[in-house]
Order: sequence, then C-alpha cells, then structure tokens
Amino acid sequence: MRAMRAIRAREIIIHPRRPPVDDGAVVFDAGRVLASGAAGEVLRGFAGPVEDLGPVTVTPGLINAHVHLELSHVAGNTTGGQGFTAWVRSLLTNSLVKLSQLALDKAIAQIQASGTVAVIDITSRNTAQVAAALDAANIGGLLAVEFFGFANAGALRWPVDLDELSGPARERVAAAGHALYSTHPETLAAAKAWCTRHGRPFSMHLAEHPDETEQMLTGKGEFARLLRKAGVLPEDWAPPGCRPVAYADRLGLLDENTLAVHCVQLDPGDIATLAARGASVCLCPRSNEYIAVGRAPWQALDSAGVPLCLGTDGLSSNQDLSLWNEAAALLRAPGGPGFFQVLEWMTLNPARLLGAQRLYGTLEPGAVAGYSIVPDGAIRAA
Ligand SMILES: [Zn+2]
Repeated sequence: MRAMRAIRAREIIIHPRRPPVDDGAVVFDAGRVLASGAAGEVLRGFAGPVEDLGPVTVTPGLINAHVHLELSHVAGNTTGGQGFTAWVRSLLTNSLVKLSQLALDKAIAQIQASGTVAVIDITSRNTAQVAAALDAANIGGLLAVEFFGFANAGALRWPVDLDELSGPARERVAAAGHALYSTHPETLAAAKAWCTRHGRPFSMHLAEHPDETEQMLTGKGEFARLLRKAGVLPEDWAPPGCRPVAYADRLGLLDENTLAVHCVQLDPGDIATLAARGASVCLCPRSNEYIAVGRAPWQALDSAGVPLCLGTDGLSSNQDLSLWNEAAALLRAPGGPGFFQVLEWMTLNPARLLGAQRLYGTLEPGAVAGYSIVPDGAIRAA
C-alpha cells in the first residue's frame, strides 16, 4: 500500500467559490486528494507524514490555459514594446525548429514552481519532446497541436496526423488553429471539427493585435505585407471584410468548447458574439503588454458572462511561466479583478473547459494531488 501524506497550512482554499478553511489540511493518497478540510478533523487518526507549510494560503493546483513550451529556447531573443509585426520579425530570426532540452526543462520548472498542475500547451514541431517532459513532471492538460498556413486547405496532415498518434499523447492531444490571418479557413474549420468529434476544447489566437483587424477588414496593413512577403498569405487572399470575431463566428469556430486566446481587440459587438456562443477567452496580459498590442477588456467580457482563463503565453513573449506573476499583473492594476475572481480563471474555468472538473480546479476528494501556494501576501489581499 502506498504511503499517504498530508499538508497543513494556516489557510487552505479547497474550492475557489467557498470560504477558505483556517488551519486546513489536505491528505493525499495515490496521486489524488483523499480528504480536505479543517486540520483538526482531517488529520484525526492520520498516522502518515504531515508537512506543515506554515503561515501561507494554499490553493488548488493552477491551470495555465495558454503556453508555447516549444518556444522556450527563444527566451530573451524577441523584440518587445514595438507591436506585433516587429515581434514576429524578431521571433523569426530564431530557429523555431530545434527546442533545447535545457530550455524546456527550465520552463517546466517554472510551471511547477508556481503550483501549476495542468496546461493547454500549443505545439507544432516538438510535440513528442514536450509531451515527454510534461509526463515526467506529472503535469496534465492538453497538447494542442496547432495548424498553420494556407496550403493543404482543410487537411490536418501537418504537422502530425492526430488520428495516428498512440499512447499517452493520444489521450491528451487536441487540434488547434493558429489564427485567422495565418491559416486557411477550411483548415481552421477542420481543426475545430476534429475537436468536436473527440470532445476536446479547440483553441486559437483571436483578435490579438490591431493589424489583425485591419487585415480582416481590408486585406492591408504592415502585418499582411509581412505575411505575403513570407509566402504565408497567398497573393490572391481576399479579406472577409469583417472583424476577426465576426469572421471566426461565420466559420463556426466559436462555441462553448472554444478557447479564444488574447481577445484584446474587441468591440462591444465582438463581446456580445463571444458571450452568445459561450466561448471562453484566455487572457495573456503580460504577453500583450510585452508585444504592446493593447489590453483585453476583461471587465466587459466578465460582465457579459464570458468565462475567462489565464495563460502566460510562451517565453517568446513573457519573462517567465508563473501564473501567479500573470495574475499579479491584473491584481495590482488599478481597478483590477479580485483575488477569488482571478483564482477561478486559473482553476474552475479551465478545468470545466478541459472537461476535468473532478481532477482539477479544487482540492476536493478525487482531485489530483497538486496544490499551489500564494506567493505574496499582497496578491491575496488584493
Ligand atoms: Zn500563443
């Protein structure tokens, strides 16, 4: 029989929607929560080792809803503060093919250090390498294989044949689309259809930067020129003549199993569309700030009932992969959300999107044996 173990702390948030438990404890057994609650009750008769974490707040393990682990090796080698086109230009000066294992291991260590137990990782070139590293670190969640480009319209043959994957990768894979400006609409629709068939969430970058809006409306702009020059956007590509969210909606990409990532460039009509479809939005505030594309209107999205998640994005546009640092960027801003609100964005909301509410999002019995410690009293007080 495997040895049980327990943690004890001054305050434990077992469920983000319920009051924290003072002097709480959680007992883990065989990789799951066995019991949680007031230490006096939970630890009564418990003979295993108890790790006393002291005067801290413990939360359920976090879920990073958008990260690109395969870009970990470009950390520090992109241009920030000058908009999306300048950032892409700088990104493309890096080799995006060869992912260094050392960089990947460091990135995973940052994820673990922030008490993150699951990720939605966007992958295209090094899926097997990332999958192995996540498995070794016992980090769950999705490997969202991202389809990109206008060639092979509608075919999901690049970069991997999802239906031919075997083993653990098959269980955690999903199709993802890169973006409206970079990927054939039939390919995006095929990726979404694959997710629907397999009961997995579909994610794509959407309404991230002003040039995306301009390209959809007019087919023009600095970024569209870059895409044409790079041979990504066909010369004869015709813009849909509407805003990105409206186009995604027209393509049938938005529903309650879609995670739209970024959603910075929204107007009230876009927000109403996202809400009407039940789509979730993943906020990546530090990435948006780094690239200088604006701020997502999280208040309006939240008020409209759009479920929000939080992601660090990759080290290609962020200093680190700590979700707490991501949360702090919102919590410390004037008029920012409340602590428990953001905690839901890092736990309950992405857990529901993953269809894994029993495993993630709380420290109730049956949940995975992972937890997070709020790193800074200022964050908890916000
Ligand atoms: Zn991204």
